[in-house]
Order: sequence, then structure tokens, then C-alpha cells
Amino acid sequence: MLVEQVWTANSGRNFNYLIACGETGEALAVDPLDHEKCLAAAKAKGWTITQVLNTHHHRDHTGGNDQVIAATGAKLLAHAGAREQIAGIDRGLQAGDVIKVGRSVELECLDTPGHTMSHICVLSRGDTRALFSGDTLFNAGAGNCHNGGHPSELYHSFATQLAKLPDATLVYPGHDYICNNLRFTLDREPDNARAATLLPEMERQDTNRPMVTTLGLEKQINTFFRLSSPSVIRRLRDAFPDLGEQPDQQTVFLRLRELRNKW
Ligand SMILES: [Zn+2]
Ligand SMILES: [Zn+2]
Repeated sequence: MLVEQVWTANSGRNFNYLIACGETGEALAVDPLDHEKCLAAAKAKGWTITQVLNTHHHRDHTGGNDQVIAATGAKLLAHAGAREQIAGIDRGLQAGDVIKVGRSVELECLDTPGHTMSHICVLSRGDTRALFSGDTLFNAGAGNCHNGGHPSELYHSFATQLAKLPDATLVYPGHDYICNNLRFTLDREPDNARAATLLPEMERQDTNRPMVTTLGLEKQINTFFRLSSPSVIRRLRDAFPDLGEQPDQQTVFLRLRELRNKW
């Protein structure tokens, strides 16, 4: 599996992706908003885009569909529940479906509601496990639920699906929000040493060649995976005095999501 991470440099800080088969050069474009950059990247690599995947219906993920499809004739794949929100879906996806790219790439679909109620993440099979997480999981953060989502669904997607993936899984999110997210982690958990050392490195990084995190690292630096951390809970009790001594993980997640909305 070959992955090209395309930095759009737009105000939304979107990442687009090309996932290609090294044997055939066939490629899947994930949320190719910046269609010019995605088409140029495919051309430079000698790849043919045969499929477009939208992780969800927000315009900053679907806005390049028409141009990429017009240029390549690619098929459009998206959550089966997003047919009313995304025009021209050729293949509606549900949990457990497998997307094949060329001969060597297989991507398994995860149904991960929360940011929207019809959101697909894909997980590569084989030697390299990589998660393309759209706006569900960001580096050091979680998607918001302002535009058609629901925080308790987001918690369940994290707890029952994402948190159970192997630590070595690579994480490829839909946006670059890592610096701001690390600042939120440090606001919630000031003694998080890994986040503290990572923040200045990330402030200096070239977003054209971003660090790719793993799920194991996310569990150290992403507040939304640190629901049992004593310092997270202690700090949360300052903001929400009604919180009990041992709040359950869902309660912690929902309160963190609420604080992040205003942060
Ligand atoms: Zn979104
Ligand atoms: Zn987005």
C-alpha cells in the first residue's frame, strides 16, 4: 500500500489522501477537496485514480468530487446512509465492507458515527495497518459534533472501535489540528510529559511532510483516549464540581468534548 498525504494549505487545514496499489498503480482518493493537488500528485506518481471515497458529507470533504470524477471517471464511494447528502454515490458502504484498490490493497470500512451520523473510517489490512479517520479522530483530538453529529455516539465509536485497534496502527486524519489539540491536552493534563515534548516539535514541523502518529501514541497524547487519567479527572472536577469521585469513561468523554467546544 502506498499513501500520499496531500496538504491542502487551506484555511480548514484539510488533508487529502491518495492510497495506491504498488503493483497496478490504481489509486483511491480520500476526500479530494483540493482536486488540483490530488490530480497532480497522482500524475506525478504515475497513478490512476479509479475510486473516490468520502468519509462523510461535509463540503470540505466532498467539494472536489465532481472535478476528480470528471477527470478520471472514478467511482464514488461513501456511507450508505449519506445518499441524501452526497450526490452520485456509486457504492454505499456499511460496516465490514471491503474496498479493494488494485491487486494489493484492501481497506475495511468502519461505521463511526458521532461527528456526523454517517461517517466511514477505513482501515488497511495486511502488514501496514493504517486508519484513515476523517473527522472522527484527529491527531491528539476528536471531531466536533456541531453539524449533524452526536457526542455520545462519538464516545461509542472511540470506545468500542478505535480504542481497540492495535497500537501500531498509523493514523491519517482529515485535518491538521495537532498543535491546538496538544494545547488542549496540556490544559486538561498539565503533567502529560509526552504531549509537552511533542508540542514544540509540532509547532516547527513542515505540514507538507507531517508526522504520522500511531494509535499507541494517540493513547498517550489524546485526551479523548485518557478517560481514566487521575489528572484529567482531577482537573475536570474543577470545571464540573458535580462530577463524582470515579466518573465513568463516557461521562469524562462528554465533559471533555463540552469543554473543547468552548476552548
Ligand atoms: Zn466534517
Ligand atoms: Zn472536515
